Parts: sequence; structure tokens; C-alpha cells
Amino acid sequence: MADYDHDNIFAKILRREIPAEILYEDDYAMAFPDIQPAAKAHALVIPKGEYCSFDDFSKRAEAVFIAGFFKAVQQVAAKLGLEEGGYRLITNHGKNAHQTVPHFHVHVLGGQPLGGLLSGDTLER
Ligand code: 5GP
Repeated sequence: MADYDHDNIFAKILRREIPAEILYEDDYAMAFPDIQPAAKAHALVIPKGEYCSFDDFSKRAEAVFIAGFFKAVQQVAAKLGLEEGGYRLITNHGKNAHQTVPHFHVHVLGGQPLGGLLSGDTLER
């Protein structure tokens, strides 16, 4: 993966240069609603650190930080009231996954039935 882009949109949200409704924040993570929600509940959780994607985060972040981050993801799901009904976590790494913002983020989706694992038929036949 390329070097971290300090001007990516989530870096700007983290630095509070661009407004976002902060749903949750702790030492490891910040969460805010996705600007184009794909479900009734759709939050993005980002680490407070310069990581391009899940792949980069997993390789470079300290174990304590990784644990803290994923605990925060659960806190966000709980805060959105999604524990009982269920929710889905998605994180996209790189081109094939259509990652569009190069700062690691986890999508938390729920509030309604979410259908199958992938929306389209992605297998080439
Ligand atoms: P990706 O495709 O990289 O996994 O997801 C990036 C997500 O960021 C998309 O779902 C997109 O709607 C969301 N997004 C892009 N720009 C902004 C923004 O400025 N604010 C917020 N809150 N979400 C954004």
C-alpha cells in the first residue's frame, strides 16, 4: 500500500478540519455517520493513527492499540443500539475491495435486515 496520505478526508475529520457528527470517541478511535448511508444505521469507525487500511493497521499497530480499536468498534455498535438486532462490520482494503478513503475504517451497518454477504454477483464466470 502507498504511503499514508495526510490530506485524506478522514485525516481531516480526525484533525477536526472537516465537520462530522462524532458518535463515539476514545483514545483509540473516533466514529461518525457515513455521509452516504447504505443502511438505516451506518457508522464509520477510524483509528486515531496514520494507517492506510486494515492490512496496514494489522501489520504496524501495537497489539494494545488494535485491541483498543476493536473494543471501540463494539462500543459504537452498542451505542447505535445494534447488539440485539445484529449488525455487520465491513472493512475494505485496496483496489479489489473498492476502498475509496485511504485511512483504515470499519463500516458498522445495521438497523434493518442486511441481505446476503455481497450485494452483486462478484464472481466472474
Ligand atoms: P470505503 O469505500 O473506502 O470502504 O468507504 C468510504 C466511505 O466513506 C464511503 O461509504 C463514503 O460514503 C464515506 N465518506 C466519504 N467521504 C465522507 C465524508 O466527507 N464524511 C463522511 N462522514 N463519510 C464520507
